[in-house]
Amino acid sequence: MIQRVQFPINPEDVHNDDILRSKIKPLISKNVESFNYTFIKRSLDARSKKIKIQCVIDVYIDENIPNNKPYYSAKNVAKEKSVTIIGAGPAGLFAALHAINKGIKPIIFERGKKVRDRRRDLADLNKKGIVNPESNYCFGEGGAGTYSDGKLYTRSKKRGDVKTVLKWFIHFGADENILIDAHPHIGTNKLPKIIEEIRAEIIKHGGEIHFNSKLTDITIVDNAIEEITINENKKFPTSNLLLATGHSARDVLYLLHDNGIKLEAKPFALGVRIEHQQELIDKIQYWGKKSNEYLPPAAYALVTQVEEVGVYSFCMCPGGIIAPCATQSGEVVTNGWSPSKRNNPYANSGIVMTINPEKLSKNYKTDPFVGLKFQQQIEKVCWEKAGKNQQVPAQRLLDFMQDKKSFDFPRSSYIPGVKSVMLKEVFPLFMIKNFKKAFKDFDKKMPGFLTNDAVIHAPESRTSSPVKIPRDKISLESPQVEGLYPCGEGGGYAGGIVSAAIDGINCMRKIIEKIN
Ligand SMILES: Cc1cc2nc3c(=O)[nH]c(=O)nc-3n(C[C@H](O)[C@H](O)[C@H](O)COP(=O)(O)OP(=O)(O)OC[C@H]3O[C@@H](n4cnc5c(N)ncnc54)[C@H](O)[C@@H]3O)c2cc1C
Repeated sequence: MIQRVQFPINPEDVHNDDILRSKIKPLISKNVESFNYTFIKRSLDARSKKIKIQCVIDVYIDENIPNNKPYYSAKNVAKEKSVTIIGAGPAGLFAALHAINKGIKPIIFERGKKVRDRRRDLADLNKKGIVNPESNYCFGEGGAGTYSDGKLYTRSKKRGDVKTVLKWFIHFGADENILIDAHPHIGTNKLPKIIEEIRAEIIKHGGEIHFNSKLTDITIVDNAIEEITINENKKFPTSNLLLATGHSARDVLYLLHDNGIKLEAKPFALGVRIEHQQELIDKIQYWGKKSNEYLPPAAYALVTQVEEVGVYSFCMCPGGIIAPCATQSGEVVTNGWSPSKRNNPYANSGIVMTINPEKLSKNYKTDPFVGLKFQQQIEKVCWEKAGKNQQVPAQRLLDFMQDKKSFDFPRSSYIPGVKSVMLKEVFPLFMIKNFKKAFKDFDKKMPGFLTNDAVIHAPESRTSSPVKIPRDKISLESPQVEGLYPCGEGGGYAGGIVSAAIDGINCMRKIIEKIN
């Protein structure tokens, strides 16, 4: 007999077996001395001063907890039918894992380098401000997900089975707790090893991964994919192409456009990354307390509506670092990551707003790139104003609210450095107004948020794709080109690691249905 029970517990007791059993016992219907139990969910509840962990537990009475492992299995596919995948981000890699699980051979082409080799390029980006356009925080094995924060929660539960993705992550080395924690997180230090394990699995079972291999052209014959070109000169025939190139592969969008494939401008998010001291965020969220061995560094999630525009925090990284995420010279872009322990003294978060393409240009129906051009323009202006290197424009939060220039800054986690720039010089007036109203509202929700010790870094511009590559809702195939499957964040179908991975699995499922 299995019985589900639910109760709050003090954070320091959540791993104490005796205390857990004493909480469970009065809640189960059968009066037994011995039982097994397993956590289903654990979530921090800091709504009142008595901070608790809410536990959901399955109790096994007179039976053992079933062993559902392994969470993932694969077949040897070396001699099987193949599917071509462009991009080794979460969408491409999970599509490949689904393929070898179902007996189909994935052949991946990735423009960037292997995960370890990317490190040198990230070091050059951070320390020297040099952007390698093929190897950076967005491009390379594991995609934008590799050196990310590795937060694995998604709002898109409708799109597919989140648990499958989490279980596959566990199979390749993630901690089992990601299945239980309400806000699962892997951490930048652990992700690269997991990505290497995924690669090893794909290759061991006969799949292929080609690095330094950029899709540079596609050949369409009779409205169907016939061939792709890699690195300008290598041709590969293919009839099914899963395109998972992420939101930063602008060249791929132009390549599709030049080949007559219709694209659509879509709403996207754009804004800034704000950094506070983690200690302050802990105190605000934990009723004056600091985080400790039982209370993780505090997070926040803020959202407000200003003039019918959603302004919200995005990808909040407790104990995190702000990273330079440009993909070419002549632009600056920020994003954030944190190690698994989240033990840096900073708390950063994107504060972004929805930008609707119709607000940018009357031509948004005929020009799919209106949003992309706006995004590009902001990144370029920020680069120019901050010294034409990877420094970013920055302003203290209260200075921003009061239209004052900042003359000095507290230490920032952003390694390339910050330059004092009035943010009204880089963002249009409507965005500045929306930010100001939103920050006031955020301070009401989190008193103390509005402090001059917080620093705004600009811009946070790659949180979602401003362009959609249309696909059929059922077949997930392009309505225009047979065999083309736009997938993941770059197609406009995902917004994060888990949703991209789910979309990769869904697209591969459709391709397999078709070829079988
Ligand atoms: C610093 C940072 C932190 C983040 N933190 C989180 C987080 O904590 N949680 C979360 O859910 N999301 C996070 N994200 C977002 C997340 O990483 C993306 O949503 C996710 O990676 C999208 O997956 P994808 O597979 O669709 O695309 P991507 O991960 O962008 O992968 C696309 C891949 O395609 C390759 N590619 C592009 N063009 C070509 C071409 N022409 N030929 C061959 N290959 C090509 C790229 O090199 C890349 O490897 C973060 C992103 C960044 C940059």
